[in-house]
Parts: sequence; C-alpha cells; structure tokens
Amino acid sequence: MRIDIITVLPEIFNGPLNQSILKRAQEKGLVTLQVHNLRDYSTSKHRQVDDYAFGGGAGMVLMSEPIFAIIEKLKTERTYDEIIYMSPDGELFDQKMANSLSLKQNFIILCGHYKGVDERVRKHLITKEISIGDYVLSGGELAAAVVSDALIRLVPGVLSDETSALTDSFQDDLIAPPVYTRPEDFKGMKVPEILLSGHEKKINEWRYEQSVERTKQRRPKLWKEN
Ligand code: SAH
Repeated sequence: MRIDIITVLPEIFNGPLNQSILKRAQEKGLVTLQVHNLRDYSTSKHRQVDDYAFGGGAGMVLMSEPIFAIIEKLKTERTYDEIIYMSPDGELFDQKMANSLSLKQNFIILCGHYKGVDERVRKHLITKEISIGDYVLSGGELAAAVVSDALIRLVPGVLSDETSALTDSFQDDLIAPPVYTRPEDFKGMKVPEILLSGHEKKINEWRYEQSVERTKQRRPKLWKEN
C-alpha cells in the first residue's frame, strides 16, 4: 500500500505515523507513506497556497493551482485507486469503509485547512470525500492520520498476529470482548475464572457471549442491523 498525503503542515505527521505498528509497517516495506508539503508546489514568491474567498467572508481557502500541480504530477508517477479529500461533509468513515479501502493499493489524501479547498479541486480531482465524524477539526491532518492508521493495520503482515485485526471490534459487526492480563488477582479484583481454565472452546463461547452483550448495550443499532 502507498499513501501520499498532501498538507500545509507536514510536521504533524512526524508523530502519529512514525511509532509502533505504523513505523514497523513502513520499515518492513509493507507500506509507503509519503508526506508532501503543498507549499513546495506554490508558484508564488512567498510560497502562498491560500487566498481570500470570492464573495467575501472570513477565512482563507486553499487554492486550486498548487493542488492541481502536485496531484497531476503524482498521477504521472503511478495510478491511484482513490484521491481522497478529508472533509466534515464527506462519507462517514467506519470499519466497513476501512476494510474495502484496504484492498486497494495507492491513495492520495488531501488535507484541507482554514475554510477548506477551492470547490474546483473537489469537483475535478477528488474521487472520494471522507469525514471522521460530525464535528469540525481545524485541519484535515489528524483525520488523515486516523484513516491511514485504520488502513495500514489491515495490510496483511502489518499486525504480528495475523488474526488479530479480525478479532477487533466491528469486524464481525460485534464489539470486542473484555481482555485481561497479569496479575490474576489485582487488589482483590479477579480475572474471570473461565479465562484461566485453558478450555479453548469454552473461552471462545464466553468471549462471543460477552461480545453480543456489549454490542446490545453499547451499539444497539449495530445489533439490530444484524
Ligand atoms: N468550512 C468547512 C470546514 C473546514 S475545517 C466546513 O464547514 O465544512 C478545515 C479542514 O479540516 C477541512 O477542509 C477538512 O480537510 C478538515 N476537517 C475538519 N473536520 C473534519 C472531519 N470531521 N473529518 C475530516 N476532515 C475534517
């Protein structure tokens, strides 16, 4: 998988995408993450990438010119399966979308800023718009990091235990069961007996029941849709 992220704040990505599982995925060569500074594609002396909105009103808008320049350049280098714009009015991101996107290879993710991007970019370049929730962030960077994380961990070989992603919440339309680790007795709070029994079949049954219970309680809509 390859993800090209376009942003005016490339530094943000040094943190979240360079730790732990995501870092190892890149080191193992399973994933290529390339962060591009939109300002490098500005044609103005002051590396300007935003301008006032036509018609007036507060807030700057990211300009078409540098965005077209970088995306058109990237498209000459490889074929992209999706050119994504992070946007609060986009399709709501969930595990189903993550699963289906994870089967594809190459992505561009454009992060908006200020008031957003010139509408012509959205109309003529973008193939998919994704929101991570009904709230407004100050930029698309954190949202792009969320989507990248969710996709990368689904790439085969990224998680050390191959089945691990399959037992996470939402994968089978169920919430994950509770988990415990040592010690067995922590200040009188005990681990459920069944998990210490070594009886795999019974443990799996218990986990399934717990998942069902949790789904009914915490995500009743998900349970009803099943
Ligand atoms: N004026 C826009 C909001 C701009 S917020 C509006 O009202 O819809 C600035 C940028 O942050 C957006 O361009 C988008 O890239 C990103 N962003 C904000 N909230 C987001 C969300 N919930 N999901 C994905 N991206 C978001």
